[in-house]
Amino acid sequence: MRTLFISDLHLCPSRPLGTRRFLAFLGGPARDAAALFILGDLFEYWAGDDDLTDAFNRNICAALRERADAGTAVFFMAGNRDFLIGDVFARAAGLTLLPDPARVDIGGTPTLLTHGDTLCTEDRAYQAFRSEVRSDDWQQAFRSLPLAMRKARIEALRQESEAQKSAKPAEITDVNPAAVIAAMQGQDCGRMIHGHTHRPARHEMDARGTNVERWVLPDWYERGGYLECDGSGCRLIDWPG
Ligand code: MN
Repeated sequence: MRTLFISDLHLCPSRPLGTRRFLAFLGGPARDAAALFILGDLFEYWAGDDDLTDAFNRNICAALRERADAGTAVFFMAGNRDFLIGDVFARAAGLTLLPDPARVDIGGTPTLLTHGDTLCTEDRAYQAFRSEVRSDDWQQAFRSLPLAMRKARIEALRQESEAQKSAKPAEITDVNPAAVIAAMQGQDCGRMIHGHTHRPARHEMDARGTNVERWVLPDWYERGGYLECDGSGCRLIDWPG
């Protein structure tokens, strides 16, 4: 059983090449996959499921739906950019929403899936921001705003975060090893798969006496890529499209 993992595509109308690459991926490598896991930041941002009135969003949704209808089980876990994706989008795209983290059996190996941002504990400012925007109060207030206002607010936040990102040292924006071990604790998993850091790699680590592998998914800015897993293991595969 072939299972594929992708994340950090950051799809948006201003990067048409990324969208073409993703659509080619759905019609190419994903065609004969039993399952496709999207581990967050599929979209550059998501203002709410009512943004499905937008043609760009509708096209992506339809392409996912087509793959799901053709037999690939599609799963979606929210990233820090698209955590406002909800049931309406999930139903329209024919996919299943996953909580973060999620423990799943992949080819006989219990595997912990996460977007990855919760592992970047050194970035205190981001973690504070995250707890605020993931709270029920914030989300309720935000969702009650008109769509155009939500989009404008997100645009302002994005510009702020871009400016901050370049000022942050690399080790702050990577995962904290202790946070990885803490996340794996009690999960009884030999493998973790996440995205978010845009540092594709396979790491091996000792988590309290157990050997654990950690796969980091690539982003899709310059090219694409995915992780392919089956009963024999996992491999990172380049997808230039
Ligand atoms: Mn992210």
